[in-house]
Amino acid sequence: MIKVAELIKKEKNRLQRGLELIPSENYVSKDVLKALGSILTNKYSEGYPKKRYYGGNEFIDQIEELAIERAKKLFNVEHVNVQPYSGSPANLEVYYAFLNIGDKVVGMNLAHGGHLSHGHSVSFSGKNYDFVHYGVNQETELLDYDEIRKLALREKPKLIISGATAYSRIIDFEKFQNIAEEVGAIHVADISHIAGLIAAGVHPSPFPFTDVVTTTTHKTLKGPRGAMIMCKEKYAQQIDRAVFPGMQGGPHNHTIAAIAVCLGEALRPEFKAYAKQVVKNAKALANELKKQGLRLVSGGTDNHLILIDLTGEECVGKEAEAALDEVNITVNKNMIPFDKRTPFNPSGIRIGTPAITARGMKEPEMKVIGQMITRVVRNYKDKMIKDEVRQQVLELCKKFPLH
Ligand SMILES: *Cc1c(COP(=O)(O)O)cnc(C)c1O
Repeated sequence: MIKVAELIKKEKNRLQRGLELIPSENYVSKDVLKALGSILTNKYSEGYPKKRYYGGNEFIDQIEELAIERAKKLFNVEHVNVQPYSGSPANLEVYYAFLNIGDKVVGMNLAHGGHLSHGHSVSFSGKNYDFVHYGVNQETELLDYDEIRKLALREKPKLIISGATAYSRIIDFEKFQNIAEEVGAIHVADISHIAGLIAAGVHPSPFPFTDVVTTTTHKTLKGPRGAMIMCKEKYAQQIDRAVFPGMQGGPHNHTIAAIAVCLGEALRPEFKAYAKQVVKNAKALANELKKQGLRLVSGGTDNHLILIDLTGEECVGKEAEAALDEVNITVNKNMIPFDKRTPFNPSGIRIGTPAITARGMKEPEMKVIGQMITRVVRNYKDKMIKDEVRQQVLELCKKFPLH
């Protein structure tokens, strides 16, 4: 029987020997891992600092307060809840705080870059709230704020959620807030993908004007799997009650400690440099892919991710993901806006630079990676070429070891 420890070792080896291009993934620091794997997982602490339903929380309180304090400083926000178990629960908790079942919500279409928890029909959100979706403009493949405003004026939603999981351009949160105010809706910005970029000032911030902001902590923020809800003070009680006792029981204290550590790291100047490089790398990779003749949705990127439209190439999403997997390049297949194919075999792949940048790679490596991706996609059945590229990947990985 294979033991868990052996499987973890194998997974570590896979990480070491591969290029991680999934834009929602990253590598956490040793200190984050230490907090995450600590004895803090043993403790129950339902409630909030100094208002617990269990004894023995003297130090747990200080850890949670530290996480909150650092998040407030990093993002310039009035109130923070660090207890949500992950990004999807955080969004459901926000809906629970402001909505009744059946209420109208405006969110982004999944096929255009939105998230499952933004009202997709298979998700709790889509099944229980009356979601109406906006997408990108077919020509520009960019968000069209005039259309979003028209939709909001027509539908009169109680809540508008902005933010995306596969949108490679700047999101204008101020425009969303203005639209929400005009129609009397709450604006929730879900910054899960770009939290690290916002923290470092390389993407415009939704703070302090946005009503509520949700984020995962494990994507560009480089923390443990977890989430935070941040809001104006006037919504603090509503949000906290929705998280506990509304949706959750005991907080995951080991995760909260790891969030505190990652926020401490994000407050340092090195993190700013890292986030800047993430965007520089994405632009360099996008340029090389374009040079190789691949079509990028919206023509490029302003952030950490790139959506490649493989329509007309030898292989599209599903086969491209599989062929790249064979050469130790990890990507995910993804729908493109107005995709004529299905989510299980879509036309695109989504790639991103947070993880490879964390390894220390820069523009010259992006050029090589862009060439390797194109070569594999265009020769996806050629075993010799794939063997050659795999060797190239292994050598590149050796030069940028994971610590
Ligand atoms: C990743 C993501 C989430 C969900 O996070 P999980 O932790 O996987 O539940 C929510 N919203 C957006 C925009 C995301 O990108």
